[in-house]
Parts: sequence; C-alpha cells; structure tokens
Amino acid sequence: MNNSLLSSPIEYLKGVGPQRGELLRKYLDIHTCKDLLEFFPFRYIDRSVVNKIADINEQTQYIQLSGRIHQLKVIGTNRAKRLAAKFTDETGTIDLVWFQSVDWILKTINPNVSYIVFGKPQLFKGFFNISHPEIEPVIAGVKTEQGKGLQPVYSSTETLRKRYLDSKGILKITQQLCEQLSEKELPEFLPYSLLQSQDLISRFRAYRNIHFPSSEGELYAAKKRLKFEELFLLQLKMVKQKAIRVENSKGFVFPHLDKFFNDFYRNHLPFKLTGAQERVLKEIRRDTLSGKQMNRLLQGDVGSGKTIVALFTMLMALDNGFQACLLAPTEILATQHYEGISQLLKPLGIHVVLLTGSTKSAARKMILSNLKEGTFQIAIGTHALLEDTVQFKNLGIAIVDEQHRFGVAQRAKLWQKNIQPPHVLVMTATPIPRTLAMTVYGDLDVSIINELPPGRKPIKTVHRTEASRTAVFNFLKDEIAKGRQIYVVYPLIEESEALDLKSLMEGFDAIARWFPLPDYAVSVVHGKMPAATKEYEMQRFVKGETDIMVATTVIEVGVNVPNASVMIIENTERFGLSQLHQLRGRVGRGAEQSFCILMTGEKVSYTAKQRLRVMCETNDGFVIAEEDLRLRGPGEIDGTRQSGDIALKIAELPQDSPLLEAARRQAFKLLEEDPTLEMQENKPLQEYLKNMAEGAIWAKIS
Ligand code: ADP
Ligand code: MG
Repeated sequence: MNNSLLSSPIEYLKGVGPQRGELLRKYLDIHTCKDLLEFFPFRYIDRSVVNKIADINEQTQYIQLSGRIHQLKVIGTNRAKRLAAKFTDETGTIDLVWFQSVDWILKTINPNVSYIVFGKPQLFKGFFNISHPEIEPVIAGVKTEQGKGLQPVYSSTETLRKRYLDSKGILKITQQLCEQLSEKELPEFLPYSLLQSQDLISRFRAYRNIHFPSSEGELYAAKKRLKFEELFLLQLKMVKQKAIRVENSKGFVFPHLDKFFNDFYRNHLPFKLTGAQERVLKEIRRDTLSGKQMNRLLQGDVGSGKTIVALFTMLMALDNGFQACLLAPTEILATQHYEGISQLLKPLGIHVVLLTGSTKSAARKMILSNLKEGTFQIAIGTHALLEDTVQFKNLGIAIVDEQHRFGVAQRAKLWQKNIQPPHVLVMTATPIPRTLAMTVYGDLDVSIINELPPGRKPIKTVHRTEASRTAVFNFLKDEIAKGRQIYVVYPLIEESEALDLKSLMEGFDAIARWFPLPDYAVSVVHGKMPAATKEYEMQRFVKGETDIMVATTVIEVGVNVPNASVMIIENTERFGLSQLHQLRGRVGRGAEQSFCILMTGEKVSYTAKQRLRVMCETNDGFVIAEEDLRLRGPGEIDGTRQSGDIALKIAELPQDSPLLEAARRQAFKLLEEDPTLEMQENKPLQEYLKNMAEGAIWAKIS
C-alpha cells in the first residue's frame, strides 16, 4: 500500500516547513499529512452569493459584497497606523478598516476597479464596518473565487494566525496536499455493494470534497460518506467484540426460582412491580437461562426502582446455590443499600454483609472467610469488594450500581471473582441516549426502566435569581412548617476546591442565620469531611433531626430521604444538565409535592439559559440526556466536537443517529454474511481493519 504521502510528517508538505510544522503539531495536533487531511473545516462560506450593503443588520455573519473602494485614508502613524476606506455598492456605503499591512494594501487597491469584499460586519459607534476584509478585484474575463463554490473555514488560534496559519493559511496547505493526493493514497475499502446500497461516494472523492466542495450537494455527499465510514467501522468493531464475547463466555445457568425468588415475590414484596420492572426482570431471566454470560446495562431514571430489580436478580443466583454481590460507588450508598436490602431479606433468612473501606479489620476478617466458605450469600460494598483478598466460594452475579462512577478496569475485576466469570449487571441513573449507548456500549445488552412507580407527583422546577432570595427562604420556612426537609446544594469542583468550599460554608452560615436554632436545625455535608462526621451529619438529616442539609454533590448518588421535598441548587449555571437531573432526583421520592429551585446570578450565558429551560420544562431523564448531548455537542467551541464520552471525528450525535443505525444494521449484516471478511469484495476492508488495529481506542465496558 502506498501511504507515503499521508504518513509523512507535516513539515515535509510544500509550504509548511519546520517552524510551521512545529506550530501545527503543538496547537492543532497535526503531525502528519493524514492529520491535516482529517482536520476538517468547521464551516463553509458560500462565495457564489453576493449580498447587498443595505441588507446588513446586527445578525449578519460573514457576507460578500461587490462594489468600489474609495476615499482611502491613512490615520495615525507608525504602530497606531490604520487604513480606512469607504466601500459602495448600488444600495449603500460601508466602512472598511485595516490595522495591519497598511502600506501594502494602500498600494494594491485600485479605486477604478470593482472589488469583491468579504468579511464580518461589526457595529462600531452606530455604523457598520468590516475590519480586515478579504478583497479581490473583479476583472472581466478572469475567474475569481467568486462562483468557485464553498470556501472552507478552519479553526485556528491567535498564535497560529500571527504565523500565517489562519483559516486561509490552513486552506492553502490543505489545497496543496489535495493537489498531490492521488486515489492510490486513499483507496476504497468499503465493499462496492455497500457503497451502492447506502448511496456513498468514494473515499478519495469524499476527502477532497469535504475540504473543497463545489456545491452544498457535494458537501453533503462527502460528509455522509465520511460519517458513515466512521460509524460503520466503530459498529463493526463492536459487533465483532460482542460476537467474540458471546462465543467465548459461557455463563452460569440459573434454572431454579423456587426457594427465595418466588417466596419474596409472593409474600414479602412491599409493592407491586411496575410493568417496566417486570419486563427487565424477564430480560435478565432470559440471559441467566441462556448458558452465556450476561453483560447487561440497566438504565432507569432516578427513583425508577432499580434496586428491587437488583435484589431479584441476586435472588436468582441464590436460588441456584450461587452468591451475589452489589457494588456501590460511595460508602453512603453502599450502607443505604445494605440497610434496605438486609431489611427486605430478613424474613428469608438470607445472610447479607456490608464491606467498605471503614469495615474494622476483625469484622473484615470474619466477612472474608465467610464469603470464601459461602456462608454469606450476599455482599454489598464499595471498591473494597474489588480487592483481591475478597474471594467468593461461588459468585454467580455481580451488580454495579451507578456504573459510570467506576472505571473499566475496576468493573473488569468483577469478571475475575470466579473461575468462570459471573453474570454482570451494571445499573445507571444517567440515561445515556440510545444513540450514544449504541456507540459507547455497543457490546452490552441494554435494558430500560422507562416508567416510574405509581403515585409520584412530578417535581416542580423553577429558576430564581439572587433578587428573589428572601422569597425563596420564606418559601422554605413554609415548607419546613409543613414538616418537610430541604436540601441546599453547592457545586464543588476540584480545580476551585478551596473557593467552592468557602462559598459552601458562607452559604451554610447564611442559612444558619435565616434558620436559627432552636426553631430550626441545619446539617452540613461535604466530601472533605472525615467519613465519620459526614456519616453523622447525614444520619441526622435522614432521621429527620435536621430540617435543612447544606451539601455538595456528595448527595448526588443514592441518598433516599422521602420526606425531603425541596431542593435548592446554588450556582446552577455551573452544573451540567445530567448532573442537575441527578441532583433533582433526591426529591420527589415521597407522596408530597416536591420542588426544585435553581438559583443563579442575574446574568447567565446562553447555554446555561438553555439548560435552565430544559430543567424547568421536563422531568424526563431521557429527554434531558438527549438535550444534554445536543447542548454539549458541536457548536460550543468552534471546530471542536465533544460528543459526550466518545471522540468522533466527524459524525455528530444525536443528529446523525439515523446514519448510526444504518451503519449498525450494515455491520451486523456484513458480519453475518462473512464473519471473517474473507470474501473477495470484503478483502480490502479486512486489510484496512488489520492496519488500523493498533492505536485505535475503542470504548469497552466490563
Ligand atoms: P433508583 O432507580 O433511583 O435506584 P430505587 O430503587 O431507590 O430507585 O427506588 C426508589 C423508591 O421507589 C424506593 O423507595 C423504592 O422502594 C420505591 N419503589 C421501587 N419500585 C416500586 C414500585 N414498583 N412501586 C412502588 N414503589 C417502588
Ligand atoms: Mg439507586
């Protein structure tokens, strides 16, 4: 394969050289010609459209005008020198201004010639002007950039711009590269029949046309091809991974449900399961009968009742002589699970233990030996459960709550807790949009609880600013008078930990003043407290001894106080959507109407406003997750893409989900027809996959 041009270092490209090569590496992560080719424009300008000066308004972005430049005037001297001019078309006049290269521009402009002027109008002292416009003389009979189609715009940085690597500079070197490229360097590897059925253009054309499309249609086709390619390769890998996993991993079979499962279901279940809970249990049941290892992700909004599903799943294992474990990310949550579950299972005579970092060594020793001998059937705990010293006699199922808090390596440790890996169920209350789940967790099976237990009143969410502080506090007083409890949550991030802690403590002081003893009691909890103090403060609130709990996001996960019906979130603008939704899930757990009050300063950014709107409008975690993805998606920063957890170079989620689904279907189909890609038509693909095997990062779970 001739890859010499694309794999060659960027400084060898004509027009780059060592100095600019260094800059490209440092600032844009462009090391080779291939990197440059994959540095896609983030925007295009349609040079075929000519606007009129009269049409300019405050919303106008980049425009292209045609007319004459006159009244050129140099203002100031030396370093403060600038060049001002008037530009007139048949509808009006606008100012042009240059701060650099004044002499040179002055020399080149010919007042007797028509120019195409391109730039971004800005309002200055009530008049529009364009600074540093691109100008090009219109010469009859000579082709200008006009009509050449779409011009790519590349993102750049201040430093790069100073070294002639602005958008135009990058355009020039990319153009240089494209001129040298031949089809040999970008050979097609997708099977012809796939190109046909999906209506895709060739790779070579796509790479050229994404940089230099001559029309919107061409651009669309180029993007479609490259997006499909990206998603298809990703899916191919995932489908294959899954096939290998299913093939290789034998799973324990749980045929019996007689002893514990049915007894609990019939005689001790405190409520009726929701339809969604029933459905998920059936899915898990099917997995545990299949003879293959289960690797399942359970998604369910906060409060949707995942714990009871976990409990039933553990009983399936116990009924068949296996042990089970439940892993939680925090000590608070593990303890809460332990208390709830051992309470529920008491009538069945099942031995449940709690193992965390603060389990005393004598107790730990006793627990470890009993787990190893199999006398303890269920272990609930934190990371402490993952340690090698924790051994089971016969672990049949491992469940991970709030799986996103655990690393891949940590989850993988669970696989080694038995000679044959146990079934794995990971649960999350952070709903991952379906599209993203398909990409990130492509080799997992996904179950969804999309129904809340009956009788829940939707949480009322409002946005308030500092100006309403008194009204908000008075509202709290009313709620406390009704016997309710309240959370007040502050953001705390590591980068600004000291400051954040300070604002938390100031907030706590202010609240303590507004809600003084002995009429009110306030507790405070944050991650920097000693575990014992934290636990004590938490318990005071759980038991109803305090009315208000001031906390950082440590309460985000799991805490269950049904009597707490109001949540105030301070500095809401600093939280992401998914996190806000998680936090809000701490209220709305009882029968009372619950409230969530989102506090911000008077001025908030546009995206923060969007987030606030979404939070006030919906309680649906899946809608919020989709919105979160959309808001965090492309557009935040010019030319960069942040699609949640995965790095996609060109595809955008959720916008491209139809393409993703098509890619996934085709990946399945292809591997079904030709699992090893041996067929003549698929050989190039096989070859390509082999070549890209190293260096690729594939998301994998458990
Ligand atoms: P999460 O999915 O957030 O982990 P939990 O399992 O903690 O939710 O359940 C939230 C609350 O709902 C618990 O108090 C639980 O007992 C209750 N619950 C769960 N399922 C049902 C149901 N089917 N009917 C009534 N209440 C339920
Ligand atoms: Mg939970």
